[in-house]
Amino acid sequence: MSNLRFDNQAVVVTGAGGGLGKAYAVFFASRGANVVVNDLGGSHKGEGHSAKAADVVVNEIKAAGGKAVANYDSVENGDAIIETAIKNFGRIDILINNAGILRDVSFKNMKDADWDLINSVHTYGAYKCARAAWPYFRKQKFGRIINTASAAGLFGNFGQTNYSAAKLGQVGFTETLAKEGVKYNIIANVIAPIAASRMTATVMPPDILEHLKPEWIVPLVAVLVHSSNTTETGGIYEVGGGHVSKLRWERSKGALLKPDASLTPGAIARKWEDVYDFSQPEYPTGTANFMSLLEHSLKLGPAPA
Ligand code: NAD
Repeated sequence: MSNLRFDNQAVVVTGAGGGLGKAYAVFFASRGANVVVNDLGGSHKGEGHSAKAADVVVNEIKAAGGKAVANYDSVENGDAIIETAIKNFGRIDILINNAGILRDVSFKNMKDADWDLINSVHTYGAYKCARAAWPYFRKQKFGRIINTASAAGLFGNFGQTNYSAAKLGQVGFTETLAKEGVKYNIIANVIAPIAASRMTATVMPPDILEHLKPEWIVPLVAVLVHSSNTTETGGIYEVGGGHVSKLRWERSKGALLKPDASLTPGAIARKWEDVYDFSQPEYPTGTANFMSLLEHSLKLGPAPA
């Protein structure tokens, strides 16, 4: 970390008026980057807007001798955010898709507005910012993206169906961006952070929160977006409170049945142990992994009646 610099690079951090986003923005500016501090400045439920959140962070960065400019657009208007980087710094190198809100409510009481707003900010917003940066990344054969998922998306969490859907969506989004970007040195990774912020202030006790500083998320992100990282892409990381780990998909050994009329519910029931047998796991990394399984099942005889 001590020698990772970002001189002359332009970094866009969305939702940088507080929490994790502010920690990223302050860090990148302290390491020589030109930073776009984007923040809509609304409540954690996505109500209202204000220039204050972004302005305070920009002023703090400038007071410390760094370079930063504010942008107050919603991430749903990603073009304007990336345009702020181009206009002020002439380039965009790194995009940290971090902005987020919550609309927690049990599924029974979920309203369309709760679902739509969460998906608009997290899914559409991350798409719009990445889509606007993409042509610049491709042209300069350099781009780094961090998307932000959540343990709620990876594992599910009561009262967060909207947020969980949007956050796991960030995983698939990242995995495909990584595949499409690899030819152009565009690296995309996704993190599921845990940190003290206004988002977690009411759901975790203070003595736990004091160990979960947003600053403890920054080092992993810095390593992943630095130009020295040319291989780690499409990764899913859990990070917080000093813990950093990588997640991957695991497929059980699985039942193999010939795909013909012998493939009945009874045939699957008889092979059920194989379905959940993780003693011989595979770690699939692409859709093509399925083809080798199909080849195996086609070679089988019919399932016994
Ligand atoms: P936070 O509320 O402190 O920061 C989010 C920021 O995003 C706020 O400053 C807010 O004004 C801004 N924002 C919200 N909607 C916006 C929009 N439409 N356009 C631009 N800016 C917008 O919360 P945080 O904890 O720092 O969260 C940062 C990210 O990390 C979020 O995506 C969140 O879902 C994710 N996350 C956080 C945790 C955690 O433990 N804090 C856990 C899992 C995921």
